[in-house]
Amino acid sequence: MSTVVKENQGAVILDGKAVAAKERQKTAVRVGEFAAKFGRPPGLAVVQVGEDPASTVYVRNKRKSCAEVGIASFAHDLPESTSEAELLALVKRLNDDERVDGILIQMPVPKSIDADRVMDAVDPAKDADGFHPMNTGYLAQKRPRLRPCTPYGVIRLAEHYGIDLKGKRAVVVGASNIVGRPMALELLLARSTVTVCHTGTRDLRAEVERAEVLVVAVGRPEFIPGEWIRPGAAVFDVGINRLPDGKLVGDVGYAAAAARAGWITPVPGGLGPMTIAMLLSNTVDAAYLRKGVPIA
Ligand code: NAD
Repeated sequence: MSTVVKENQGAVILDGKAVAAKERQKTAVRVGEFAAKFGRPPGLAVVQVGEDPASTVYVRNKRKSCAEVGIASFAHDLPESTSEAELLALVKRLNDDERVDGILIQMPVPKSIDADRVMDAVDPAKDADGFHPMNTGYLAQKRPRLRPCTPYGVIRLAEHYGIDLKGKRAVVVGASNIVGRPMALELLLARSTVTVCHTGTRDLRAEVERAEVLVVAVGRPEFIPGEWIRPGAAVFDVGINRLPDGKLVGDVGYAAAAARAGWITPVPGGLGPMTIAMLLSNTVDAAYLRKGVPIA
């Protein structure tokens, strides 16, 4: 079992793309088994409202990934002018549709729609993103069901590389409902000692410098200078930021961080592919749970 503080010989790059491919292979096998047993593949409805260009790319990738592992994907592309009532009516139809095991509403939705109200309307048993308060609650009570994809992706990536989280000082920068908060709950479940930093944090640098495990989800290019990274730390950079020249960078100053860290995720090719792999895995978990079969 590896310890988190390592000799500094340059970081091990956590290859999310390769690990995600392995996760997808496992999912494809489970999809085949489900289809053989129940006469249909697991199904995921992917709903997009409006034409936000970044969302369109994400949605396309998610649908393509479904096809690759044999999950049936149901596309619902709605115009920007869609009302909240219309979206809620669609969610209700999907909740009632037997072929649909997972429902994903691509965020952000137009400002005229209350995103929380829509998320709350999704049947928690079909919440493939793991965002529903009921699923967050299960995670908080250390009996996870459908787990939020990005935080779950961090845990699976750490497991894959033998990074032991138990007892480690873990710092999460960012406290959003979809990444930071559930990330803290996942790390707590893994028995790390967890600190969450946010806009109210007094001395961010001091917190980051203590971190043996660092997860950053802020959404600002290279917001955490690499020089702050504790030598040997495991660094998980969730941020995806597009620079004016088109280049994608994370929330951590990568070059300086990679020279100090023990492990680090690249951007792109780190948590992005892991998040999609976990979405697919969650869809199959949801399909089995709905048939009364516990998650393996
Ligand atoms: P968000 O805007 O909802 O939350 C950002 C968080 O950062 C907030 O909790 C805020 O308190 C914190 N923050 C902002 N400024 C801060 C400061 N100065 N000091 C400390 N904390 C500060 O964002 P989000 O939805 O959690 O996403 C964060 C990033 O992760 C974005 O770049 C997003 O694109 C990316 N993301 C990536 C994936 C993936 O698949 N890899 C998935 C989800 C989000």
